[in-house]
Amino acid sequence: MQLLKELTEVPGPPGYEEAVRKIMTDRMRVFTEKISYDGLGSVIAQQGDAGPRIMLDAHMDELSGMVRHVRPDGFISMQMLGYWLDAALPDQRWVILGSKGPIPAVTDIWDAHIAPHDAPGHVQRQELFLDTGAANAADVAALGISPGDPVAPISDFAVLANNRYLAKAWDDRVGCAVMLEVMRRMGKTPHPNQIFYIGTVQEEGSIEMRGARTSAHIVNPDIGFSLEVGIPNDVPGPGPEAAQEVLGGGPGMMLYTFSEIPNRKLVAHVKRVAADRHIPLQFDFVPGFGDDAGAIKLHASGVPVTTVLVPGRSTHAHNGIIDRGDFDRTVDLLVALIQSLDAATVAGIKSFNP
Ligand SMILES: [Zn+2]
Repeated sequence: MQLLKELTEVPGPPGYEEAVRKIMTDRMRVFTEKISYDGLGSVIAQQGDAGPRIMLDAHMDELSGMVRHVRPDGFISMQMLGYWLDAALPDQRWVILGSKGPIPAVTDIWDAHIAPHDAPGHVQRQELFLDTGAANAADVAALGISPGDPVAPISDFAVLANNRYLAKAWDDRVGCAVMLEVMRRMGKTPHPNQIFYIGTVQEEGSIEMRGARTSAHIVNPDIGFSLEVGIPNDVPGPGPEAAQEVLGGGPGMMLYTFSEIPNRKLVAHVKRVAADRHIPLQFDFVPGFGDDAGAIKLHASGVPVTTVLVPGRSTHAHNGIIDRGDFDRTVDLLVALIQSLDAATVAGIKSFNP
């Protein structure tokens, strides 16, 4: 719980993953001396020196913003980074990471007493500005804020009923935490593989999945697992065609995203291992979802990949929810998967010989 709290509360806008990278590197160093970085800032930790190269991937960055323009009246417009809903943005707390340190800010919302209406009950769409308390542009400059500065959401970690956790940035700090827990367990578990644990950068707001692409170039994996948040669809709203997981139903696996058609033999292998170990497994088919697996699979001549998921409600907002049981079962599944792989099994999964 402490790890999840630490990982979710730090800021990590795409291209400004410093705080997350520090936690990841410090924790990884306990389990291996082999730590390196790619040219964009992804951190790569290795366990094992021989055997198939297994890549575990979780991105360190989160949905964020960037200071775009400071108005003469001191209000600040933002370039949003990542797929935000308009509804998630007003009336939220943020931190601007300026040259003089973190500056708290809030996105404005019209006062209900004066908000202009299109029709009864329908407030007009509002332009979004950050309010730091500054009264003019000179105040903003004095705070050390200038265009290009990263802006991260603020949201405190909290424990809810049924061992469910509330926080921002489950996408994808939950994958980062799964990776660290798998690394801890694999440190004491014999296996015939080389495992590469990678905290990637700049996944959000890019269709290139930048850090996954550059780190795969270094790792040159035989098989890749992207660790991500799943999309439970168990609150009133979109129907089952949009997504299918439920919170508390165990780990998930993506069967389709806009960035990935997973390797069918690898999908069958994951299903078999989960069934053998009596780990519940959910399946998700989300056309509106893309992740690092889409970049890993296109490395070199092509890599079998799939995405393993911890379901999380409201992943692209300030207040998301995961279930602790789902987290623990996802770690169990990854450990079992790595133990199930060896040179012959990996060669079988990679083979397209008819
Ligand atoms: Zn993600």
